[in-house]
Amino acid sequence: GAVIGILGGGQLGRMLSMAAARLGFATHIFEPGANPPAGQVADRVTTAAYDNTDALAAFAKSVDVVTYEFENIPTAALDVLEAHRPIHPGREALRISQDRLTEKTFLRQLGLQTAAFSDVYDLASLAAAIAETGTPAILKTRRLGYDGKGQARLSGPQDASRALEEMAGAPALLEGFVDFSHEVSVIAARGLTGEVACFDPGENVHRDGILHTTTVPARLSSAQRTDAVLLAANILNALDYVGVLGVELFVTPQGLVVNEIAPRVHNSGHWTQNGCAVDQFEQHIRAIAGWPLGNGQRHADVVMENLIGADMDRVPDLARDPDTALHLYGKAQIKPGRKMGHINRIQRTG
Ligand code: ATP
Ligand code: MG
Ligand code: MG
Repeated sequence: GAVIGILGGGQLGRMLSMAAARLGFATHIFEPGANPPAGQVADRVTTAAYDNTDALAAFAKSVDVVTYEFENIPTAALDVLEAHRPIHPGREALRISQDRLTEKTFLRQLGLQTAAFSDVYDLASLAAAIAETGTPAILKTRRLGYDGKGQARLSGPQDASRALEEMAGAPALLEGFVDFSHEVSVIAARGLTGEVACFDPGENVHRDGILHTTTVPARLSSAQRTDAVLLAANILNALDYVGVLGVELFVTPQGLVVNEIAPRVHNSGHWTQNGCAVDQFEQHIRAIAGWPLGNGQRHADVVMENLIGADMDRVPDLARDPDTALHLYGKAQIKPGRKMGHINRIQRTG
C-alpha cells in the first residue's frame, strides 16, 4: 500500500497519522526529537536532524508523498526531499508562509486586507515604522514565531528599544494594531484536481498568546461567511495549493482582515474531529493522496478547548462528561504552556 511521509512528529503529525491509517495508508514520521507523540501511532519513525541529507533522502525514497505538520522546514532539506518525491502542500506555500513579510506582501497582492506593516531591522527602521503605522502596534519576528512567541507590544514610541531587544537581533515586522471585535479562522482544503472545500469558520479565543477555544458556529453574518470562504479559496488557488490550509482572520467593521496563514492542519480546526463526517486531518490526507475531498459539512455545534499544562488535572472529570470528546496527545511530560490535548464539547440541541 501507499506510504505517507510526514515531517514533524508532534500532535498534528500524530492526528494526521491516525487519519491516514483509517484510510489504509502506512505512515513514516521524520522528526529530530526523541519519542515524538506521532511515533506512538505511526508505522515508522526516522529520528534525524534536518541537515542529515542521507536520512532525508532515505526517508523520501521510503514514502510515496511527503507532507508536514509545521512550516519551518529548512529550504535545503526541502531540496533533498523534492529530488525524490512530491511535497504537498508545495514549495511556494512554504516559501510564503515562512516569513511574515513575504506572507503579508502576498496577501496584499491578492487584494486582501492585512494589518499595516513595515519591516524592521534596527532602531532607526523601527522609528520609521512607528511613524508610518502609528501605535499601538505589535513587533513580530519575521520567522519562526508561534503561540505568540517572538512578539512585543508597543503602546507608544517610548517602547521601541525594549521591543527591539525582545527580537534578539532577528529581522522583524511592525504591525499596526487591528481593532477587531473577534477572531475567526477558515480551514480550507484543495485537492490535486483543484477542487476546493472549506469547513465552517470557527471563532477563536486566545489566552496568553495561545489558542484557548474554537467555537462553531462563529458569530458571522452570511455575507462575512461567504467572504471568509471566498478569500480562503482565493489564497488556495493563487498558491496552486494541495492540502489543508488555515487562514486566521480578524473581524472588523471594515471587513475581514487576514492575520496569518498556516500551510497545514490547524489547531483551530480540531473541532472538525467531532463536528464533521470528514475532519481536517482526513481531508488533508485525501488531498495529498490525490483522492476526492470528503464531506466536511458541519453536523453539530462544537466548542474545542485546548488542554494546556496543568489542565491535564481535569481529565478524570472530563472523561465522565458524556458530551465531551477527549483527544490526548500521549506526551509524557506536562509543562506550562505545553499543548497536552484538547476536548471537543458537543453542544446538544435536542
Ligand atoms: P499562532 O500560534 O497562531 O501561529 P503566532 O505566534 O503566529 O500564533 P499571531 O497569530 O500573529 O501569532 O498573533 C497571536 C494573536 O495576537 C492573534 O491571534 C491576535 O489575537 C493577536 N494579534 C496578532 N497580531 C495582531 C494585530 N496586528 N492586531 C491585533 N491583534 C493582533
Ligand atoms: Mg503563526
Ligand atoms: Mg496566529
